[in-house]
Amino acid sequence: MKLLVIGAGQMGGGIAQVAAAAGDEVMLFDRDVALVERGIATMRKNLDRSIEKARITAADRDATLARIVPVATWAHFDVDIAIEAATENETLKREIFAKLDAHTPARTILASNTSSISITNLAAATSRADRVIGMHYMNPVPVMALVEIIRGIATSQGTYETVRDLAIRHGKTPVEVRNYPGFASNRILCPMLNEAIYALFEGVGTVDAIDTVMKLGMNHPMGPLELADFIGLDTLASILDVLREGLGDPKYRACPLLREYVAAGWLGRKSGLGFYDWRGGARAARTDLGPSGVPAFAS
Ligand code: NAD
Repeated sequence: MKLLVIGAGQMGGGIAQVAAAAGDEVMLFDRDVALVERGIATMRKNLDRSIEKARITAADRDATLARIVPVATWAHFDVDIAIEAATENETLKREIFAKLDAHTPARTILASNTSSISITNLAAATSRADRVIGMHYMNPVPVMALVEIIRGIATSQGTYETVRDLAIRHGKTPVEVRNYPGFASNRILCPMLNEAIYALFEGVGTVDAIDTVMKLGMNHPMGPLELADFIGLDTLASILDVLREGLGDPKYRACPLLREYVAAGWLGRKSGLGFYDWRGGARAARTDLGPSGVPAFAS
């Protein structure tokens, strides 16, 4: 299959990697060629790690990378499916869907990896609502088994079956859920992550205490603050906004501490700082912040 992936960040890079490893020809698009190259460099690092673990060979890595073509300008893309994985913002995604509608053949399926935004709303920016669908891979894409599939109100059965089969070919388990704010995954997960941030903000426990409680006490493989850093704090805040607006309930309001971190550019692992310090390449405690996630008073 020929695929176009829009957005070469954490998710777009992962989707491109999994698709290319499964034999698909992939065009990977971002606003700037340097961003695409950064995505491909991350992919190479991931594949090198898989070689060290003897999961793949160097020839597999080279074949996977050879199936990925970097792109940074809009042109006619003759692909079977486009998967949009750009920043979680409805206005931006609607602009991208209108462009995809204009720059791909009528047969092309337009899928979104959105975490929370209505597929029907994205489909309305195109002239092919029957071929628009949600294909929600999880982070990190090469590791996580689930793809949540979301039909918009006008998505056809044929479109559904094509992306379901594609997810299976990518080694994933597809699960269909309704087009509803946050779908199933983030409707359930993100309020918990937000609650963990409130617990930190209100002084219930330190970053380490909160994450340790949830790991050892609830058997979660990763603490909620670490997971928030993995997801991206900007993405988490955007999902909470979609939940609050879409469900009309103030219980989904993002914690002010989350907003302040995003405003500071502390977006989690991808920017180097979040609830943890990732600048050394691995998780480390922040030494510049007090127990509630803010600096101690100067005097
Ligand atoms: P990210 O910040 O790592 O990457 C977003 C990428 O989109 C960036 O490279 C950015 O340059 C690019 N972009 C922005 N505007 C663009 C445009 N106009 N054209 C092309 N590219 C553009 O974010 P991410 O974590 O990869 O998230 C991407 C999407 O995947 C979001 O919709 C997010 O909700 C969803 N998602 C994220 C996770 C997660 O855990 N991070 C999991 C599942 C789904």
